[in-house]
Amino acid sequence: MREASPQTIYLKDYTFPEYLIDSVELSLVLSEEDTRVVSKMMMQKNPDSENRESLLELAGEELELISLAIDGKALSDDDYQLSEEHLQIAEVPQEQPFILAIENKINPKANTALEGLYLSKQMLCTQCEAQGFRKITYFLDRPDIMSTFKTTLIADKDKYPVLLSNGNKVAEGELQNNRHWVTWEDPFKKPCYLFALVAGDLSCIEDKFVTMSGREISLQIFVEAEDIDKCEHAMDSLKNAMRWDEQVYGREYDLDLYMIVAVSHFNMGAMENKGLNIFNTKFVLARPDTATDSDYEHIEGVIAHEYFHNWTGNRVTCRDWFQLSLKEGFTVFRDQEFSGDQTSKAIKRIEDVKLLRTRQFAEDAGPLAHPIRPDSYIEINNFYTLTVYEKGAEVVRMIHTLLGVEGFRRGSDLYFQRHDGQAVTCDDFVSAMEDANAIDLSLFRRWYSQAGTPELSVKQVYDSEQQCLTLEMQQSSSPTPRQQTKKPLHIPVKLGLINSDGTTEKINYQSRPVVEEIVLELKQEKQTFEFNNLASKPVVSLLRGFSAPVVLKMEQSLEELAFLVRHDSDTFNRWEAGQKMSGTIIFSLIEAIQKSEQLKFNNLLLSSLSHVLQQDWEDLSYLSLLLSLPDESYLASQMKIIDVEAIHEAREFIKKSIAEGLESVFVSLYKQNHKDESGCFDAAAIGRRRIKNLALSYLSSLDNQQFYEFSEQQYHTAKNMTDQLAALSLIIESKHPSKEICLQQFYEQWQHEALVIDKWFALQACSRSSQTFDTVKTLTQHSAFSLNNPNRVRSLIGAFSQSNQLHFHAENGQGYQFLVENVIALNRINPQVAARMVVGLTQWKRFDYERQQKMKTALNQLVNTAEISKDVFEVASKSLL
Ligand SMILES: [Zn+2]
Repeated sequence: MREASPQTIYLKDYTFPEYLIDSVELSLVLSEEDTRVVSKMMMQKNPDSENRESLLELAGEELELISLAIDGKALSDDDYQLSEEHLQIAEVPQEQPFILAIENKINPKANTALEGLYLSKQMLCTQCEAQGFRKITYFLDRPDIMSTFKTTLIADKDKYPVLLSNGNKVAEGELQNNRHWVTWEDPFKKPCYLFALVAGDLSCIEDKFVTMSGREISLQIFVEAEDIDKCEHAMDSLKNAMRWDEQVYGREYDLDLYMIVAVSHFNMGAMENKGLNIFNTKFVLARPDTATDSDYEHIEGVIAHEYFHNWTGNRVTCRDWFQLSLKEGFTVFRDQEFSGDQTSKAIKRIEDVKLLRTRQFAEDAGPLAHPIRPDSYIEINNFYTLTVYEKGAEVVRMIHTLLGVEGFRRGSDLYFQRHDGQAVTCDDFVSAMEDANAIDLSLFRRWYSQAGTPELSVKQVYDSEQQCLTLEMQQSSSPTPRQQTKKPLHIPVKLGLINSDGTTEKINYQSRPVVEEIVLELKQEKQTFEFNNLASKPVVSLLRGFSAPVVLKMEQSLEELAFLVRHDSDTFNRWEAGQKMSGTIIFSLIEAIQKSEQLKFNNLLLSSLSHVLQQDWEDLSYLSLLLSLPDESYLASQMKIIDVEAIHEAREFIKKSIAEGLESVFVSLYKQNHKDESGCFDAAAIGRRRIKNLALSYLSSLDNQQFYEFSEQQYHTAKNMTDQLAALSLIIESKHPSKEICLQQFYEQWQHEALVIDKWFALQACSRSSQTFDTVKTLTQHSAFSLNNPNRVRSLIGAFSQSNQLHFHAENGQGYQFLVENVIALNRINPQVAARMVVGLTQWKRFDYERQQKMKTALNQLVNTAEISKDVFEVASKSLL
């Protein structure tokens, strides 16, 4: 916590480190409240540094220094200076390497911010990214300092029988007073943000993986004893990810051991520490009766993500934190592709784009807009954003689209070969892609420095005499904070043409070979593309697969969209046409609501959906996406001034109208797919559950006793969490008579499963019921709620403020006040998580005048709070600009 105006750090100010740390020997005597750390660092002046001063400054926060020595000689109080954030040593050797030894003390139990070494239940564990290592000991805590680590952990044998750190276990032994020790050695140089240790009474499942070169790797997942039966899926996912990275990228695992530990108190999703990943339990633990299909999918994706970091992040790391997207964008792209290969590419792509367009586009359009490589920050923890991760992945995906599969692989091979063991920049990544393919991506680089979502406007002109189709494309990007003028970007636009009978039209473009699909490269503000030999006007399918993170503006009639829903062979655009169609209809209803006109249903949508339903579908998950309406938050993102009530009313009206029109179809879909399933995680079963629960959701909107019974019966007999939770959510969203009983019963059934109880909180926080605000307020007093647990905070306060726009943005402003009170309380406990909760207030400019005033008042309250953390200060103050 600090009171002085927090300092901004700029990318342009980057300089080489003045000293290097070649190796570190750490020894920690662990205890809950008094952990002793001894660090011996082999250091030397960096030959690349121009600074000739002999001052050494190390970062360190909330540490109690015990002693300091250089080459065995103790330093006196006059030799160094301590401040809240630094340790400065006036004179260190310049000509030869030296050993700096530091002894200090820390209190893990008092560490509620969960950065550095902290206590999660009975377990001691670490989180060092981005700057947590400085809360363990004084260090050059920056990613371009790469060192080898040898770590000895000493602790009580009963309390902490398991002692883990990075690398391979090299020695262990017993000590007096019921204590034991273990030494770990990591032969790979790494930045300190990848350091980890875990001490606790943990159970473990073990498996093996044989790499492509025939090495046997031991795989271990550590959890608390009661969770040992929930690790199988995580282990399978890990092995699949290891195999995939060998097949697709030629990357093999390097240590002999790969460990994952699940902890219940964790700020993020998971952390890729070398050889010792630390995970939020949410992304490890799954059993069919406790985890939904989407939990299973997330676990698979996150396990893979952290594994893939071993090459994209650990072996090749970031030079500075501005380059975060170098590791995150690339790794998210890799995990997206992996997940698509495991189940369904079509579904994965649609879901990723949904997330991008509702959440990241909002970030891009709001006060916190920043490029995927930001220019400045106050608190780096605030830049673990959707922009850096998701848009970062889109930028890598565009390179992939431009280079093709083989070209991209050549580029990534060169990148790994050139930079293995180095800390590099986003520019180095793009250069490797260019050099391996002999192409020029200089214009493309603007994606790294330019914030905001570009708009792509397209006009089609068909000349029947010339048999020529012309597409006039124009790109523009609105100003964003701190970036008023924008330059044209290099945008890959994937295109297909469809004939009026639904067949694919061959594409003649310039002198290129005739193809069925083409990637056009838009590089200027305005560009025209001509296609010849077209006997009749084809229907254009543009931006296939969502080939660039842009907003596409192209006039398309409802009939044209309905045609694409029937015939587009691109799975993304087919779904997109349906979304545009229902979106257009919902917006006309919103207009009618705002003018107090009577609502009329457009039957074109019904006939389009019936047509879809008449086809034979193998992929029921895809079918359920085709039948789903756009989310309220996506609809909101397309409105200039968001009208939460009208959005809700219009969407409910259309949902009910569809249910009325297709009632019997939904009943038979439900009955056909409602099987007695134990929840196996395979694409067919997931598809059945998805379509069945979608059908039930439509039917529930009819407020009919018969369908209430469907939900209740499903709720009571479900053998898997997907079905149980889907039924419960429909019960509490409707006027179902058993609402309260089911909620209470669900709590009693699952009170010992923390992750299920998170769902119980989230379900109530997201409810559209008129009681929701009071319920949420009461739930903050529930014995199972605690501000000290980030998962609980996210499931109640996060879910309410970010996923329940109807009630959070209630006209009277009570939602905003509720959030502010909780952020202030949380700011004292965990600034990083507190700052993430502020996001609900950042979009104030998108609301009507009264709401704007209330949201601004709330943000001002935060800025003016005494002892506000720099995390919360940065988000709140920038939001007000
Ligand atoms: Zn990551």
